[in-house]
Amino acid sequence: MSSQHQSFQAEVRQLLEIVIHSLYTDKDIFVRELVSNASDALEKLKVTQLTEKDLFQADREAQIEITTNEEARTLTIRDSGIGMTREELVKNLGTIAHSGTKAFLKNLQEKGSQSGGLIGQFGVGFYSVFMVAERVEVFTHSWRNDSPGLCWSSDGQEGYEITEAEADRGAKIVIYLKEEHANFAKEYAVKDLITRYSNFTSFPILLNGERVNKVDAIWLKDKKDCTQEEYEEFYRFIGKAWDKPRFTMHFTSDAPLDIHALLFLPEENPERFGFGSTQPGVALYCKRVMIDPNPEGLLPEWLRFLRGVIDSADLPLNISRESMQDSALVKKLGTVVTKRLLKFLEKQAIDDPEAYRSFYLAFSRYLKEGLVSSHEHRESLASLLRFESSLEDEGTLSSFDDYIARMKEGQKEIYYLAGSARSVIESGPYIEAFKARGIEVAYFTEPVDTFLFDSLSEFKEKKFIRADQADIELEDTTQEGESLSEAETSALSTWWTEVLEGSIKEVKSGKRLVGSPVVALVPEDSPNAQMRSMMKAMGQEVPAITPVLEINTRHPLVKKLSALREQNPEVAGLVARQLSDQALLSAGLVEHPQELAIRMNAILEKLLWFLDFRLFRISLAK
Ligand code: ADP
Repeated sequence: MSSQHQSFQAEVRQLLEIVIHSLYTDKDIFVRELVSNASDALEKLKVTQLTEKDLFQADREAQIEITTNEEARTLTIRDSGIGMTREELVKNLGTIAHSGTKAFLKNLQEKGSQSGGLIGQFGVGFYSVFMVAERVEVFTHSWRNDSPGLCWSSDGQEGYEITEAEADRGAKIVIYLKEEHANFAKEYAVKDLITRYSNFTSFPILLNGERVNKVDAIWLKDKKDCTQEEYEEFYRFIGKAWDKPRFTMHFTSDAPLDIHALLFLPEENPERFGFGSTQPGVALYCKRVMIDPNPEGLLPEWLRFLRGVIDSADLPLNISRESMQDSALVKKLGTVVTKRLLKFLEKQAIDDPEAYRSFYLAFSRYLKEGLVSSHEHRESLASLLRFESSLEDEGTLSSFDDYIARMKEGQKEIYYLAGSARSVIESGPYIEAFKARGIEVAYFTEPVDTFLFDSLSEFKEKKFIRADQADIELEDTTQEGESLSEAETSALSTWWTEVLEGSIKEVKSGKRLVGSPVVALVPEDSPNAQMRSMMKAMGQEVPAITPVLEINTRHPLVKKLSALREQNPEVAGLVARQLSDQALLSAGLVEHPQELAIRMNAILEKLLWFLDFRLFRISLAK
């Protein structure tokens, strides 16, 4: 038998030096690297089998066998894959063929050992075993019949030795562990690593004779070959869940990136019960090998309720968690998948509105969080929003597209109101003007809605307008009743503004009101009542507000007040202030309601006195 002693290529020595001393803090990644190599070798054999008939040990089962031996302090990983010839051994395990690894080394030489952030982005693959091994033996036989069985062995220092040896087809890697890494010879430790990182390897993995990977890489299968039961089983596995997925999205793309994604939208919103923010749950894989189970920078944070897998062959296997967040490739992957998901949801909303409605009721706040936190998918997210509205019955949800389809001729804007509930909005002072004109108002009743329209100013070129804003011009309506004359109105407004002594910006007549005498309107740049209470709850300083009062000059109270202000300025002043405060109260803008009660008592006192007086006069007359 010929034995061959060879030195490692200078670059390999350099690489080993780094790998052994500093490269990874997670030593256990070598298991993932070797299992991934084994799986690749089996995959390559499958391809070779298509054209080559004369295979060495043609009948061997395609699988990966792992054995641990605590006593001998060894870990053995064996595959029945393609194997290596002598030349291949020299080239693959003695030099650095990998361009990525070369680039890594070059970078390291240029920037010194400070290029910490880049470390881990490049595949050092097989060599990572020397982080834990004092010696490694690779027994291998190529698929080629005419090649001998070989044993490559090395301590990862200067070089390696290749001798002829008994070997089955494929590769058997025997790892003699360093004393301090004896843990990797323990079955439970290795089992844990395999279920964590390599559970979806598409070939069976046997650990000490027992199959440990239970689940196929179902996301790589063709959609039409997957059953609903399989999806559900996988969802429960990957999502550590007990329920069924609400929606399942399975897609494959080649361009602009190679992507196999299987995403699940759960039945339950995990944050609904106040358990706090959930961890992102879409694992990142590269060709069946897990890179990160909870990658933070992959999908936007508001998609943290999703569960599933994104697998992309375009990713470098060794991309580290730290570098992941800065990787342009990972960002692009995230963007492509997010776009697909939003399209998927739009389609669900059309195909099965009931299912979408139920999803929306449980998960709307995530979509809204997405809208508030970034501009990236604004239009698609906005089209997924649903709301109740003044033109629809309670419980019916509409979209902005529905709203636009129902818009009156000539209407250019989308009107909305935010409040704590539909009943609160409807009993408020702002709706009647819109109802009288048949203009729809969209109702938003979740706390987050207060901030929604800070980020959302228009949809399909229609501006969003808050219906309590002071500067809305509504068209005239035909209304019953005589109105005050222009001169009377102007005099009343001036007087009323004076009475209120600066607490109100101005009192003016307007066309909004039908049944109410007065309404308080919020200047466009001021936070409205809902925002103010949110700001207060968050301990923020709430800016002072000087609303505009709009009066209804057809309303009997206003007309009487106009007359009373000359006959009895004192009582008129009380009434004017009371009407103003009531308008502020129904707009949710009153800070001290006690004053209102005190003034109301004063007014009632006057009223009763007046009634007494009248009764007295009547009795005198009798
Ligand atoms: P990578 O897998 O990223 O190419 P590695 O350093 O892990 O880098 O492996 C180098 C090469 O060694 C592989 O490309 C492959 O050709 C060969 N190799 C490694 N492990 C095996 C194996 N179990 N069977 C056959 N060939 C292998």
